[in-house]
Amino acid sequence: MKMKHHILFPGALSDRGQQMTLGVMGGGQLGRMFVQAAQAMGYFTAVLDPDPASPAGRISHYHIQTAYDDEQGLAQLMQRCDAITTEFENVPAGALTTLGAHRPVAPAASGVAVAQDRIKEKALFVDAASHSGVFPAPYAAITSAELVAAAPADLLPGILKTARLGYDGKGQVRVSNREELSSAWERLGRVPCVLEKLLPLKAECSVIVARGADGACVHFPVQHNVHRDGILAVTEVYEPQIDVPLYQQAITATQWIASQLHYVGVLCVEFFVVDDGSAEGALVVNEMAPRPHNSGHYTQNACSVSQFELQVRAMTGLPLPTPRLHSPTLMLNLLGDVWFGADGVMRSPAWDQVLALAGTHLHLYGKLEARVGRKMGHLNITGASVAEVQATARAACALLGLEPLSTWA
Ligand code: ATP
Ligand code: MG
Repeated sequence: MKMKHHILFPGALSDRGQQMTLGVMGGGQLGRMFVQAAQAMGYFTAVLDPDPASPAGRISHYHIQTAYDDEQGLAQLMQRCDAITTEFENVPAGALTTLGAHRPVAPAASGVAVAQDRIKEKALFVDAASHSGVFPAPYAAITSAELVAAAPADLLPGILKTARLGYDGKGQVRVSNREELSSAWERLGRVPCVLEKLLPLKAECSVIVARGADGACVHFPVQHNVHRDGILAVTEVYEPQIDVPLYQQAITATQWIASQLHYVGVLCVEFFVVDDGSAEGALVVNEMAPRPHNSGHYTQNACSVSQFELQVRAMTGLPLPTPRLHSPTLMLNLLGDVWFGADGVMRSPAWDQVLALAGTHLHLYGKLEARVGRKMGHLNITGASVAEVQATARAACALLGLEPLSTWA
């Protein structure tokens, strides 16, 4: 007989006589949307984030305002919570280990630690590639001046990326020759890095899976992503936009990565479709996020279950239903830039006009100050057809001062 896993019943009293409470390390927008999903199902929530104005902290039942490695803060979180998750990968892995010794923590510290370090992450991808056939870009770990000098010439031109703490294209330098490589490594502070070959990208996509403690794994459709200045700008999800065999390969590769890690929770893996001379291109695995992901926000309005609800279900031992996309959809990221007119003066975007468009779903993160490049919210768009969704997106972009995609109808 299959072992039955312990289920944390929504809305129930825990065996400690308190309301069943789910905790999250980090109080940004991902934490906020996790909290919203947990609360919708009747759980109490606790957020650990030092910022008193953090988007998730402000709406949570409990907000513990300490540093992520503060012993008292972690003790309070454990005391409050029946299970704990994280909303960002740079939470100290030691903190998750501490929490994991006393409470169910999903994803586990071990999986998060791999995602925190590009060198470990690439090694995992190479491992998983022996099953899925999807490899990372050719790369070399750069951890010393000797390795800078010895870097294989065929990795140039390339991108030097810090092994730790990179996001939204930060901590990356493009280098075309060995001199540039050497000075880039100096500029990044001689920290451990990976040098990746610069690949000719045809497209970028990502896959989100949710895996339970029993190994059951469900996935969302493959998302097609467009970045601007290193930040996600648009995610589109229609009928397979990439070639169907590649689409399947991306899902299989993501499932392998999750199972290699014995992962519990929501995991996102980013891929490149690379121009290899063939019509369809070839798939390359880029990086992973051990959490719900910006490219999965459309699931809030276009799917039978959202990525945030799946995170709640995975960490509480509830069933993981296969998500169904019930509408063609796209998501526009709303950066602080949208709050500034052409004259540079701050103003509120014309939400009344945007929301007059049928099939628009506004999500704002409750951040008080709009700054250029700061993620303030997103607009999900659903519709009866791909053409309708694209036409609505075009109209919304015009109202918000965003650049539409050239591929839209
Ligand atoms: P994220 O915000 O997704 O965590 P990041 O800063 O960790 O981003 P990457 O996803 O590795 O960085 O890279 C950012 C973007 O740079 C990619 O989405 C892609 O457009 C481009 N890029 C990265 N690596 C390569 C490569 N080897 N060849 C070509 N383009 C690349
Ligand atoms: Mg990325």
